[in-house]
Amino acid sequence: MKPSVRKTIIAGNWKMNMTPSAARAAVAETAALVAGQASCEVVLCVPFVDVPAAVEVARGTNVKIGAQNVHFEKKGAFTGEIAADMLLECGVEYVIVGHSERRQYFGETDETVNRRAKAALEAGLKVILCLGEVLSQRQAGITEEIVSLQTKLDLAGITAEQMKNVVIAYEPVWAIGTGLTATPEQAEEVCAFIRAVVRAGFGARAARGLPILYGGSVNPENADDFFLLPDVDGALVGGASLDPRKFFSILEESENNED
Ligand code: PEP
Repeated sequence: MKPSVRKTIIAGNWKMNMTPSAARAAVAETAALVAGQASCEVVLCVPFVDVPAAVEVARGTNVKIGAQNVHFEKKGAFTGEIAADMLLECGVEYVIVGHSERRQYFGETDETVNRRAKAALEAGLKVILCLGEVLSQRQAGITEEIVSLQTKLDLAGITAEQMKNVVIAYEPVWAIGTGLTATPEQAEEVCAFIRAVVRAGFGARAARGLPILYGGSVNPENADDFFLLPDVDGALVGGASLDPRKFFSILEESENNED
């Protein structure tokens, strides 16, 4: 059973879906559904252009708005990028960094992920750091080496105090958007391992307080398999977060498993 120091977090990653008008409707529907659910943190990570509409509709509700990336510089000649203080001023509270799609398609490395995480934390955003192994690495038996390295490199230079604003999402890349999920045993094994790596680097208090989410084809049917696990504190949900009813059903599964 997970310690009560950690709040359950159910975060949606909309990826490149929803125009601002669709976002307005989806945030409103999600907020209405989750209105009575106070025991877990509900976050929707939306495309940049949807942020103003999403923040406006989410104001005064249980839904927090996140972005899906942030640049590491404060300003300057970085065409197409968005800085942390721009997100903050728009009312964003969370930002995803290091999502596997950014690493896979946009050349993100542990070094740039680390720089983005530090910039976000310094500005006052909460970071959802995504990491996880690809299929060939799991098959080669090097999952622990990979997630250990990612955890250390992506969090390099971050202080124990800043760790209070970090959430890690363990997302085995082979399970993202594929319909495949890690087994609960695989998810627990890696999440507990990540917590041990954080304990070694930042101390027991930081490790105990760190929310670690599982992500990878979570849906209303399989969600409760993960919420019972002692080192899994919620989920990062891609596809199923686009449907407010499905997203809410996942959230309900987490409520059913509260201590
Ligand atoms: C994700 O985008 O982080 C994700 C886990 O996607 P999906 O739930 O669709 O696998």
